[in-house]
Amino acid sequence: MIRLYNDTLPSALFSSPPVIRFRSEENRCSCGKTLFVQKTRRKTVFSMTGPFKAHETLYLCRTCRQVYRSKDLRNIVARCCNVAWDVLVFVGKSLFQRCLTTDQVCHELELRNIELSPSEIEYLGRKFILYLALAHRQATPRIEQAMNRNGGYILHLDATHEGDAPVLMTRMDGLKQIVLGNVKIPSEHADHIVPFLEQLQKNYGTPIACVHDMGTGLCKAVSLVFPDIRDFICHFHFLRDAGKDLLEPSYGQLRKDLQKHSATTRLGDMIRDILQRIDSQTADAGQLTNVITEGHAVENR
Ligand SMILES: [Zn+2]
Repeated sequence: MIRLYNDTLPSALFSSPPVIRFRSEENRCSCGKTLFVQKTRRKTVFSMTGPFKAHETLYLCRTCRQVYRSKDLRNIVARCCNVAWDVLVFVGKSLFQRCLTTDQVCHELELRNIELSPSEIEYLGRKFILYLALAHRQATPRIEQAMNRNGGYILHLDATHEGDAPVLMTRMDGLKQIVLGNVKIPSEHADHIVPFLEQLQKNYGTPIACVHDMGTGLCKAVSLVFPDIRDFICHFHFLRDAGKDLLEPSYGQLRKDLQKHSATTRLGDMIRDILQRIDSQTADAGQLTNVITEGHAVENR
């Protein structure tokens, strides 16, 4: 099995990268004149299907000196670059969605015969974020259209930070579940949040409503930028905050009492015992469901 696996790896099947030829899709220049071969060039491209040698023929218009390159090749890999777009996306998603380490990404790419160093993986990760941000920015009008078709958007705002680190604030449409932007700000003071909301208003218009926690700065910033919209406190944050303020002393006492009587251990034992009993009585549970749904009396046994 292991031998079959090793024998069918791209590295074993294609010990030397195949040559794929590319040329300009145009035969004539935009000025109407015939194109002539200017030169050919080669480069090794690392794509998710494995590395290949791209052999590109460049064409030239002798009248207006315009050079024509292959659009197909440009769709696979950027100019002056050896790593294909699909590898860039794979690296980005592996690092930021699947939370793999650079070494794990290296290893997965090696299986596809793509050998990149950990520092190159890190560089591609940063590049991915940059392209993602640019693509998001370019998509702004389309995101706005999609939200308008939905009848507008409900703005969810939340921030996270650890210790003295800067605050990372996110704005999101609660209806379409699309992230509309992120920003790093020094603190949750209204002065820092207002420009973030003003930029949002410029790009996507005024939301139908707003949902956020009870942070003073955030509440003030929302009332300044969006004075006339419905402003809601997030249910989860409200309960968590209220729970903390009102119930913390009681929770503390309860935790202490539970510890004193080793209640957690005993509850754990009870859960295990009950689960075992339930497992052995699954047939009876089925009968009980029937009784409840069909309304028949329980048979005495
Ligand atoms: Zn021309």
